[in-house]
Amino acid sequence: MLYIQNYIDGGLADPLSGGWIDVHEPATGRVYAQAPASAAADVDAAVRAAQNAFPAWRSMEAEGRSRLLRRVADLIEERLEEFAQAESRDSGKPVWLARSVDIPRASRNFRFFATAILHVSSEAHQTDDIALNYTLRQPIGVAGCISPWNLPLYLFTWKIAPALAAGNCVVAKPSEITPFTAFLLSEVCMEAGLPPGVLNIVHGLGGDVGAAITAHPDIPAISFTGGTATGAAIARTAAPMFKKLSLELGGKNPTLVFADCAFEETLDTVLRSAFSNQGEICLCGSRIFVERPLYARFRDAFVSRVRDLAVGDPLEDATGQGALVSEAHMEKVLSYIALAREEGGTVLCGGERVAVEGRCAGGWFVSPAVIEGLPFTCRTNQEEIFGPVVTLMPFDTEEEALTMANGTPYGLAASVWTSDLRRAHRFAGALQMGIVWVNCWMLRDLRTPFGGVKQSGVGREGGWEALRFFTETKNVCIKL
Ligand code: NDP
Repeated sequence: MLYIQNYIDGGLADPLSGGWIDVHEPATGRVYAQAPASAAADVDAAVRAAQNAFPAWRSMEAEGRSRLLRRVADLIEERLEEFAQAESRDSGKPVWLARSVDIPRASRNFRFFATAILHVSSEAHQTDDIALNYTLRQPIGVAGCISPWNLPLYLFTWKIAPALAAGNCVVAKPSEITPFTAFLLSEVCMEAGLPPGVLNIVHGLGGDVGAAITAHPDIPAISFTGGTATGAAIARTAAPMFKKLSLELGGKNPTLVFADCAFEETLDTVLRSAFSNQGEICLCGSRIFVERPLYARFRDAFVSRVRDLAVGDPLEDATGQGALVSEAHMEKVLSYIALAREEGGTVLCGGERVAVEGRCAGGWFVSPAVIEGLPFTCRTNQEEIFGPVVTLMPFDTEEEALTMANGTPYGLAASVWTSDLRRAHRFAGALQMGIVWVNCWMLRDLRTPFGGVKQSGVGREGGWEALRFFTETKNVCIKL
């Protein structure tokens, strides 16, 4: 049995309460680790350590902070295989995916912000011959970072790296469902020589540790990625305390396929955008709108490709889709497939629990589902399922496509597939989303603003946006 510990003040520690949480391997359904069931007292200890570390960390030269964070990046890379195995075991995702996407990106997050911080400049505004203003961007103090289970280390480090690079100390909480790689990150930080208290990782339930971070009076900024309902709860606590908030929330992303698209390339990427990571990515395109002249051809080719996706042991290279992250999540996904049927949808393929032979016999596998025949207004098409379930809908006009694409409470990301450049620009402008991809999906440049509108969130991550969030702006005005 693996024992995961908190990382507080530069050392590993058991939870003060002495309580533990079972951690399951989704591919087998078995408990393989225990994680701390920490509580407010552990968060308090972490905040105190962070406060003590802050004066020295914020005054360290940027070059010094950069060197330490690049060392963290290097050590993650050196232990790539170990991290990838841990991520796959914890989350059920194929190990090849963790090896090629999740873990390299976690290392890149550190390297990106470690080097970005060396290139920061701030503005000056001269008021005629009267005064000179210059802008300081100063670290905030102790930042709280809370992340979800779907891309565990990738999203965890996407918050921690800019917060630390900007000179803040951090109290961070990974999802209790997937704590393993955050624990390995603690080891890496100790080996890299990160000063005690600069980063603190507290494991535990959202309602305990997450809520304690959110409510802590000495944490003035919270960066959160997770579900919309949790984001709303965090906002309710943080708003009267006037905390800075960055909320990256749910999505119900549209994929718009026009008849003039490059068919094979579109098919390949729309398949990936639908089912990567078992559909458990906030950016997955779960509502696929296809222009009517292409509809039947696209549907038949798409369904045939989906049937070929191998569902099975995440350790096998041939596996296209691994296990869903938890039994509760699997039940939620299956309940949405039942709902789709009740709402009059036709399940063209998948949507069943899959029994995998051998070591994965007890695992939480669901075959990828494609559903048609539903109106865009029904619950299946309005609520985030966050699993391997997509719907197909035909459209006749651009107006109709736009109305349906924009017709949910969410506004995270869209992808548009067309050869018509003017149409691509029209849709890029009119889609109510934080991110629009044209003839591509999840093509990420870490300098670009990342986030959503409507119920998909508030604020942006990435590049300078993240460094701005993790600093407080101060104007200094000098009379000339
Ligand atoms: P949750 O909102 O359930 O949890 C996210 C994190 O918040 C977890 O660490 C969780 O802890 C913690 N948490 C739970 N309750 C509270 C609380 N009251 N106060 C503070 N923290 C709390 O999301 P999931 O983990 O289920 O992740 C899936 C969701 O994340 C989906 O909706 C998805 O769309 C969204 N997401 C958004 C992304 C974006 O960039 N917009 C990217 C990826 C995912 P614990 O798990 O330990 O309970």
